[in-house]
Amino acid sequence: MWNINQAYIDGAFVPVQGTEVVECINPTTEAVIGTVTLANRDDAKRAIAAAQRAQVEFGRTTKAERIDMLKRLQAAVLASAEEIRDSAIEEYGAPFARAQWVSQYASQCFANAARTLEDYELVRPVGGARVFMEPVGVAGLIAPWNSTAGTICSKLASAIAAGCTSVIKPSELSALQAQIVAQALDRAGLPNGVFNILLGRGSDVGDEISTSPHIAKISFTGSTSTGKLIARAGIETMKRVSLALTGKSAAIVLDDADLDTALPMALNAAFMNNGQACVAGTRLLVPRSRLKDVIERVKTLVDAIVVGNPNDPTTVVGPLVSLAQYNRVQHFIRRGLEQGATLIAGGEGKPVGLEKGFFVRPTVFADVSNEMDIAREEIFGPVLSILAYDNEDHAIEIANATIYGLQAYVFTQRQDGAQHLASRLLAGTVLINRIAPELLAPFGGVKQSGIGREFGVLGLEAFLETKTVAVG
Ligand code: NAD
Repeated sequence: MWNINQAYIDGAFVPVQGTEVVECINPTTEAVIGTVTLANRDDAKRAIAAAQRAQVEFGRTTKAERIDMLKRLQAAVLASAEEIRDSAIEEYGAPFARAQWVSQYASQCFANAARTLEDYELVRPVGGARVFMEPVGVAGLIAPWNSTAGTICSKLASAIAAGCTSVIKPSELSALQAQIVAQALDRAGLPNGVFNILLGRGSDVGDEISTSPHIAKISFTGSTSTGKLIARAGIETMKRVSLALTGKSAAIVLDDADLDTALPMALNAAFMNNGQACVAGTRLLVPRSRLKDVIERVKTLVDAIVVGNPNDPTTVVGPLVSLAQYNRVQHFIRRGLEQGATLIAGGEGKPVGLEKGFFVRPTVFADVSNEMDIAREEIFGPVLSILAYDNEDHAIEIANATIYGLQAYVFTQRQDGAQHLASRLLAGTVLINRIAPELLAPFGGVKQSGIGREFGVLGLEAFLETKTVAVG
């Protein structure tokens, strides 16, 4: 049993002033594995004040100094990769391979930001003026529970590269992972107050960050509904706000696709991170002429998916993060049945032999129309909907008929055709015949999947403000 009752403020782990204690449950065993005492608004104010003090000096650091810090952070996080991986498995049931990837990605973020900064001109001539790219000021970095280490590190990397100090609020559901990441980051030995980390409820610590006049920038990853609250709260003090939000991504199988390679990739896209991924490809669009074949193949592939202990490297789908998430997924499976979709794999209840733990059955529906809840709402569990289309125009129409637009996938053997299709898809990213992200390229959503981009130059510029200096 671990017990976390500290926040990382001004370069030290200090006891929180908040008094609410929350139990942490291992989703694989349902055992209580630890407790966390949540920080409150006063803790948030202390963290913001520390970041504000540190901003003065940190904002004046040179490119070379920031690159050096990013390299130290990369090394420190890399040295903790195994602990980060294991905590993600223990705390939210990430399957081993996914947790392993995230633990490496977390350190890679700092290397990527260093590389971006290296090539970036912080001062440039424009006409008769000089334009300076300056840090926007103290940043609030707010993260969801489904990718704790990755989100904290990618946001922090961009903030450091830009010269912004930060106050980081991970989800209250990821206390252990946040603590391990905080300990790793601390070992990099950055100046006090450059980053501060505290666990607390969104409604108080999160709200304090979103409304504080001393926070200039919010970088938020989470649900669209929370993103709207944060954007509204931030406007009062004109915060710069970047929002990485909910998705309901389409995966389009074109009529020439090689199903032997396309369908395993499409299922990976749908069920990655136990289906708890913003970029999950949860709507599989299939040409009507190939529908029967696809359904048969998908059924065979899904029936063979190993569901179970996420510590086992052969496990593909582990448990959901919490009982609430389990109940949410069950609700959507029932809605699919009520609204007339045809169940072709999985279904309600727990997989045989996995009565303990928040396990669900990887589930696939066919005969889904875009009006059904399962096609419109983000379920955040391993539930895939198959929708049939008549021609490419129809596929585009279905893919774009959503309020979201985070990512889309296309599977085809015709590269040229796919590029044309990509230009018509309303999504921040289109992946063609792959499901791995390109981490140096911008990432973010269109429509209600977000505002702004992370990673690469645009990710850096999200933390910069321009100043034009012209001399007469
Ligand atoms: P959430 O919106 O419930 O919470 C995200 C964070 O916001 C948490 O730290 C929470 O405490 C905080 N928060 C809640 N209310 C707040 C408020 N009023 N003010 C400030 N902060 C507040 O999301 P979640 O359930 O933790 O994560 C799942 C969601 O995140 C899904 O919708 C998923 O698609 C999305 N997500 C998006 C991306 C992306 O890059 N687009 C990546 C991962 C997750």
